Amino acid sequence: MRILFENARILTLDEADHEYVNGSLLVENGRIAYVGPAKAFDAVDRRVDAGGDVLMPGFANAHTHVPMTLLRGVGSDLPLQSWLEDAVWPLEDKLTDEMIHWGTMLGIAEMLRFGVTSFLDMYAYEDVIAKAVLDSGIRAALSRGMMDGNGNGESGMAEARELIENWEGEGDGRIRTMVAPHAIYTCSGAYLRRARDLADRYKVPIHIHLSETYKEWEDCRKEHGTSPVRYLQDLGMLDVPVVAAHVVAVDDRDLDILAEKGVCAVHNPTSNLKLASGFAPVPDMLQKGIRVALGTDGAASNNNLSLWEEMNLAALIHKGESLDPTVLPVREVLRMATVEGAAAMGYDKVGALKKGNDADMILVDISGPHYQPIRNVMSHLVYAGQGLDVRMTMVQGRILMENGEYKTIDFDKVVHESARAAAQLDS
Ligand SMILES: [Zn+2]
Repeated sequence: MRILFENARILTLDEADHEYVNGSLLVENGRIAYVGPAKAFDAVDRRVDAGGDVLMPGFANAHTHVPMTLLRGVGSDLPLQSWLEDAVWPLEDKLTDEMIHWGTMLGIAEMLRFGVTSFLDMYAYEDVIAKAVLDSGIRAALSRGMMDGNGNGESGMAEARELIENWEGEGDGRIRTMVAPHAIYTCSGAYLRRARDLADRYKVPIHIHLSETYKEWEDCRKEHGTSPVRYLQDLGMLDVPVVAAHVVAVDDRDLDILAEKGVCAVHNPTSNLKLASGFAPVPDMLQKGIRVALGTDGAASNNNLSLWEEMNLAALIHKGESLDPTVLPVREVLRMATVEGAAAMGYDKVGALKKGNDADMILVDISGPHYQPIRNVMSHLVYAGQGLDVRMTMVQGRILMENGEYKTIDFDKVVHESARAAAQLDS
């Protein structure tokens, strides 16, 4: 299968940041076979005239809980602990496999619509989620959220192992797996160590919520006499690859440790703002060489799964916080939302639009008034762009959404079934 994109404004986001105003990109058997200035190719199965629109890497949502679309709007305006304990967890206790399936399909449909081509998930029922990933064609790194404070420690650990054994590398490498101890306040030290050993045994990364709130920091000081980051270091957790969500409450020493250990921090600005958790010190992280990706977190704390708003907020809030308009320039923010996220999930042939990489990319309609005049496209995308501007989403060379239509998802059925599931949850 050969698909040729012509007349495209290509943002490759590769190391040298190549851009082509009237570019061509050839997809062959799921991979990028050519990207560069306009070039003619024969014997293609389909030609897409981009009409000057932007062709760029797909977004990577590097921290989410995809079935939580079913809980969209639940517990709005509550603080984190009571949001979790009083609003979210009682409803999650009622979830069934079937509800998880429809919630996941809804989340995937939403992400494809907004140009997300890969996501990193943490939840229970990951085998149901894996099946939906496989069928829909999207790419995902999946991790079974585990905690031992609730009496389900052993089943969680067993399911985490089964997830890795059954799903790692499936879907032509689209599915990756990680080990996900939920957080230091829901897992004992011994349990965290076992999670580390499991990750080490299968050579997969750890995915954990880390230092999300100042309360977590204070409680950790009281209980363990140190910061959450140093507590994890003492447990040996940072000696395997780690993707840490949030990383809001950290001091300078913590950041030095994260940099030295090569931990990837996932910044979730909307979720942190909505739950009033504060700001991750992203400018300091970048200065210290810490890899930073962007995530939406679950739909209940956002309330959407669009990286467009995360980019916009990330680019704005740190300027306001630091009173320095030069921090988080648009190029950096675009990379955080795309190639850095794909790298965090462990995909080495996904991200930048370059020859040999998997064709995970999106076409963004820049004909709307908010892109005019077309002067600095990167700035327009970050500060003016909207999720619905995405006109095509492709994963591994396969078009999954085009002009609002899904190729692998029966969207009307997804809407109907997820509404039914929500009604059951609320009854
Ligand atoms: Zn989360």
